[in-house]
Amino acid sequence: MKEIRFHNSLSGNKEVFRPEFPDRVRVYSCGPTVYNFAHLGNLRAFLFVDLLRRTLVAFGYKPDMTMNITDIDDKIIRESLAQGKGIREFTEPWVKAFQEDLESLNIQKLEHYPRATDSIPSMVEIIKHLQNQGLVYEKDGSLYYSISKFKNYGKLSKIDVSGMKTGTRYDTDEYEKDDVRDFVLWKFPKQDGEPSWETEIGSGRPGWHLECSAMVRDVYGSGVDIHTGGVDLTFPHHENEIAQSEGAYPEESFVKYWLHSEHLLVNGEKMAKSKGNFFTLRDLVKEGAEPRNIRFLLLSAHYRSKLNFTKERLEEASQSVSKIQNCINRLLEDSPKAEPAFDQDYEMDSNPRLPNEFLGALGDDLNISKFLSLVFELVKDSNHYLDKGKISREGILHRLERFIAIDSILGVLSFERKVEVLDSEIDELVRQRQEARKNKNFAEADRLRDKLNELGIILEDTKEGLRWKRK
Ligand code: AMP
Ligand code: ZN
Repeated sequence: MKEIRFHNSLSGNKEVFRPEFPDRVRVYSCGPTVYNFAHLGNLRAFLFVDLLRRTLVAFGYKPDMTMNITDIDDKIIRESLAQGKGIREFTEPWVKAFQEDLESLNIQKLEHYPRATDSIPSMVEIIKHLQNQGLVYEKDGSLYYSISKFKNYGKLSKIDVSGMKTGTRYDTDEYEKDDVRDFVLWKFPKQDGEPSWETEIGSGRPGWHLECSAMVRDVYGSGVDIHTGGVDLTFPHHENEIAQSEGAYPEESFVKYWLHSEHLLVNGEKMAKSKGNFFTLRDLVKEGAEPRNIRFLLLSAHYRSKLNFTKERLEEASQSVSKIQNCINRLLEDSPKAEPAFDQDYEMDSNPRLPNEFLGALGDDLNISKFLSLVFELVKDSNHYLDKGKISREGILHRLERFIAIDSILGVLSFERKVEVLDSEIDELVRQRQEARKNKNFAEADRLRDKLNELGIILEDTKEGLRWKRK
């Protein structure tokens, strides 16, 4: 098997990927906080996970992947209380909207989508282990992690803990880089109506960071091969996940490879709900954009590079997709000539493998730019042969196979042959159908009706007789 190398944020280097079990590559990705529609920045992070999945499959691995759904945090509580709704009632429509967005973008389904509120017992269990290790203290009914007692604190984000103000802490789920403080594990309820759980460690609700440590355990028992998220999650979120999971279970391996995807920007600034500079997928689709072009745009920049979103870039993406698609359409148009080969000497592989050089590009830390340059070389070369009419049946089928394998990664192409049917041919089919009906040969009439339907023809009974039109 060819090798994949990933940039591991933990070491800062590209490392050869060696999962513990090749037939079960465990990947955990931080998913959405469900209180609104995802914006394109969030979707870029989720598309990176899709690229990772498709690449693992192309290399012959069997992925076992998780994306969590954060269905409890400060923002969700604030919004649900304002709307007088319970947590489930409030989050359910946003979970559905998230799933719909993934589907529109042709993002493959993962094996697990756990919700934080289903993992409360594991959270309590982790806190009990941390208490046994002397890493927890209480203040006003809430429980905090004492980060100065965990010797590896800062190993992922390389944050400097020496200037840390000991005993200062954060109650909120998110805080700024460079300000290192103890973080909350379990929050004592402060206001009426706030959701809370009665547990062995007291009544309250989890801090955001604890949720992911617990969901990793609930799905996988211990740790994972790969953990992903946007770069903004490196500190404090992922640093705190490490402190929790490794602090509670020092004898277990938590994460071997940390992969972080860069931000989508607007006018040079991170796209964010709080800044109001965001687009949702729905906004763009309403304006006429095609999801597959948005998918292509968000995938086409390397995951560790920032990408500035503009409408011009989206237009360029749409042109790139059309360029590849047009080449495929030409190959498909010429493929009737190649059709005898389907059942004669050339058997089309329905699940073709990517050629080695394409795999080599992906295996180099998901080098999508190199991958796309190989795709466009193939387009150019195919068009050249098509122009000259010098392409053999095998050549056409072989190239179509290549594009099918390429699309197992890109997920934006179509391989349906658009058959141009002449009006005279349709007239003839309609006439045959009328005749079959007249002769009471209803089976034949039905067959012809289905055929017309397949060709997108609608039949209409009018005063002037039977008419047909294209859908
Ligand atoms: P959230 O729903 O805010 O918890 O974020 C879900 C995912 O989207 C996380 O992995 C974030 O790091 C990622 N994310 C948020 N904003 C951006 C952005 N502008 N560009 C890329 N990823 C982002
Ligand atoms: Zn997380």
